[in-house]
Amino acid sequence: METSPLTACRLVDAELLLSVEKGDILAEGSFEAEGEAPCDRCSEPVPVRFGKAFQTVLAPKGQEPKGTGPVELHADDLDVGYYDGKGVEVNDIFWEQVALEIPLKVVCSEDCKGICPTCGANRNREACSCGTPLEAGPFDVLKNLKGKKE
Ligand SMILES: [Zn+2]
Ligand SMILES: [Zn+2]
Repeated sequence: METSPLTACRLVDAELLLSVEKGDILAEGSFEAEGEAPCDRCSEPVPVRFGKAFQTVLAPKGQEPKGTGPVELHADDLDVGYYDGKGVEVNDIFWEQVALEIPLKVVCSEDCKGICPTCGANRNREACSCGTPLEAGPFDVLKNLKGKKE
């Protein structure tokens, strides 16, 4: 699994309706989560909020979902998972959905100026005298650090 940039995350709202169809568990719900992630450009913490409605079919482990019942199986818009026959953890259902939805790239503002690749100054706060490269990102900073060592 991809490592998430979130440094904190919690559910602020969640709804879940479980129904059982011939041994498959159909989970329909929605969630709203909020957390904090570092800005992709300047690394300042940014509050993020995200959520979605979802439908998941959980089949007993070792079996394919039968796809019967009120929801037709469409690989694209319906997630399929498995449970071990004893039951499912409602928390697990939510966190799996949250993990799918976590934003991979967060910026504090669309016009965040980022960190100066030359001196490392946060250019939202201070104007440094290094000039303005066209595209500055964390990788430029890394490249620059490497260059200094050699
Ligand atoms: Zn930023
Ligand atoms: Zn600079």
